[in-house]
Amino acid sequence: MKDISSKDMIDNLPLITRKDYTRKVCVGGLELSKDQPAVIAGPCTVESKTQIMEIAKNVKSSGAKMLRGGVFKPLTFPYGDPLMRPDSDSGITEWDRKKIPSKSELYNKAELRLGYLKEAGEKYGLPVVSEVLYADSVGIMSQYVDMFQLGYRHMFNMDLIEALSATQKPIMIKRHYGESIRSLLGVMEHFEARGKHNFICCERGVAASHTHNAESRAIIDIQAICALNEYAPSVLVFIDPSHATFKRGYVRAVSMAAIAAGADGLLIEVHPEPEKAWVDPLQALGIGDFDALMKDIARIEQALKRN
Ligand code: PEP
Ligand code: MN
Repeated sequence: MKDISSKDMIDNLPLITRKDYTRKVCVGGLELSKDQPAVIAGPCTVESKTQIMEIAKNVKSSGAKMLRGGVFKPLTFPYGDPLMRPDSDSGITEWDRKKIPSKSELYNKAELRLGYLKEAGEKYGLPVVSEVLYADSVGIMSQYVDMFQLGYRHMFNMDLIEALSATQKPIMIKRHYGESIRSLLGVMEHFEARGKHNFICCERGVAASHTHNAESRAIIDIQAICALNEYAPSVLVFIDPSHATFKRGYVRAVSMAAIAAGADGLLIEVHPEPEKAWVDPLQALGIGDFDALMKDIARIEQALKRN
């Protein structure tokens, strides 16, 4: 894999590596900035209205600035799409794990849960972010989300890059665990070259020969923060310790390290009953643990005068 050369900076990455540019990223009514790190928190998956309301209320009171919630979930295997699970609030009860939903079924259910996410965000004053999987869902999703998440599996998906470039809404681009900073900068240059400037990036771990625990796939790349701040100083760099560590017990320490190293924000999975989360139960923080984490983050910010 190639790394960044000075020729790249001139020929391939002229826009994203500009040094004299201040990027403005407004998400709903919130302006993200390099002066004040922001925390995005919420469940891996929106499971019910009750769940997302409870999470929104608590993460807001702990100091989160945005609410996350997956609705369209990328699936490693074709079975058991969480979107097809029963919905306690609307009385949807049928669920056949092995049934592959049609696109229209999927979109109907997605709109219901995107609606819960939007309602929770509006009620508690938290702009919302959710992952986009299909280029033809960008229009529907625009009605519900304040920011699109371009997941790591899709960072090079040209249909999504085109569709998202055409929207006004900001994007959070996640780096694939096997891709270099050079490639991530390349994706961001694709957006820049299409006139799309309101995006942030998110580091969610890199593939490593050892990750120190059997379930996890990645390990956090703290140096990515330094490299991104060096090569693309206008870009806000978020860190996702939840998906990077895949381990609840590591999230707090990695979060603090990321803020200390200069990250501009964090993406943290939170669930009222983490062990029962439909997706990613090993990594979500409980409400109390998240509140404790936010207090630790505040101490780091204060010590470094980042707030
Ligand atoms: C997520 O943020 O919900 C997610 C699926 O993350 P990743 O694509 O980084 O695994
Ligand atoms: Mn998750």
